[in-house]
Amino acid sequence: MNVAHVALISFHTCPLASPGEGKAGGMNVYVRELSRCFSSVGVKVDLYTRCHADHKAAVAQVDENIRVIHLDGGPIDAPLSSYARYLGEFLDNMVGFIDSNSLRYDVVHSHYWLSAWIGQRVSKARNVAHCVTFHTLAQLKVQAKAGESESSMRFEVERESMASADLVVASSPHEREAMVRFYDAPRDRIQVVPCGVDLSLFRPLDIGESRKKLGLNGEKVIIYVGRVEPIKGLDLLLRSTAIMEGREALKVLIVGGNLSQEEEVQKLKDLADELGIASITEFIGIVDQKHLPMYYSAADVCVVPSHYESFGLAALESLACGTPVVATRVGGLPAVVQHGRNGYLMPWRCPEPFANSMEVILYSEGLQRSMSVEARKRAEGMGWENVAQETLQLYDLVCQGVPVPKE
Ligand code: UDP
Repeated sequence: MNVAHVALISFHTCPLASPGEGKAGGMNVYVRELSRCFSSVGVKVDLYTRCHADHKAAVAQVDENIRVIHLDGGPIDAPLSSYARYLGEFLDNMVGFIDSNSLRYDVVHSHYWLSAWIGQRVSKARNVAHCVTFHTLAQLKVQAKAGESESSMRFEVERESMASADLVVASSPHEREAMVRFYDAPRDRIQVVPCGVDLSLFRPLDIGESRKKLGLNGEKVIIYVGRVEPIKGLDLLLRSTAIMEGREALKVLIVGGNLSQEEEVQKLKDLADELGIASITEFIGIVDQKHLPMYYSAADVCVVPSHYESFGLAALESLACGTPVVATRVGGLPAVVQHGRNGYLMPWRCPEPFANSMEVILYSEGLQRSMSVEARKRAEGMGWENVAQETLQLYDLVCQGVPVPKE
């Protein structure tokens, strides 16, 4: 059997939203890219998400196979922390939409725990296979950063949906182990499918040209790309930069975050000021993905200082552009960053060794060149097409009632 029609649920964030601020990040990219690749092989995709202020049509046709279906799920301006209250409303609307349009899906694939709550019930109500990708897990987030808290409902929903889903897709071996260890999830229903990268978009561009276009002027360039949130640990990047030799000749580019609205951006600007590195630190704000290769290519090193990262798309995108990565050794990052080969993985959140690793890359041209070659090599074979193909194969097995193969 070949899967022909799938429903993806992304309740809390619209797959059409621009990634890089607020709730929109790697998961949006993942859902969008997976859909694009499914569509290119003729699989029809309905993406379900809650109505939001920017949506124009209730049903938006993205291409001949992809629709984004916006359904009511609480007040449009409800804060994320209250979304769980509206899951029931969204569920009723989703089942209503399925029934009134006589839809028959082969698979429902939920993204994030809020969607998993919905997917689990749609699966039961309409007898359709259920797959889940969590993107982040409450248990790991809370363990990774003091001060993070999550509702008991989230822990419970994650546990229940791991137990009941036909398939759980983990982004890295680390995530799978965590599910088994902390949630007693059945190992044989979890399959690791690493995330992907658009290899034709994210490729090495001419460094000189890229720097010129960005108005850079001979400085060594350190880049960060992603949402600006406490869990991303950007303070470590700033503290490390502040103790580096020759920092006057550095430029730190922070790409992502809503510059006028996000509190974390202001906190980091204040910290840069306090550390005396405000003049070399530039907060760029959100950049459309199509321009990101120019940023990655212009940089000598990309830094991913996260407290926790279930996969870390930005790290993979940087590698695909041939830019080495210095990252914390957390979550899925060791699955792409190869210590000493295409970058460095740091086991401690200490500015000194972090700064040292960046310096080694910045100031040894030969090493930087060889790491750059290894970086692109690592990314090759990790295109979204492969992720989609693997996922479709798993859907097929699940639909046939064949147990997911153990690795
Ligand atoms: N991103 C973007 N523009 C920005 C900042 C980030 O398009 O200004 C994208 C980036 O290319 C990546 C995603 O947002 O694909 C961030 O994913 P990642 O896995 O690094 O972090 P997450 O958001 O999942 O925590």
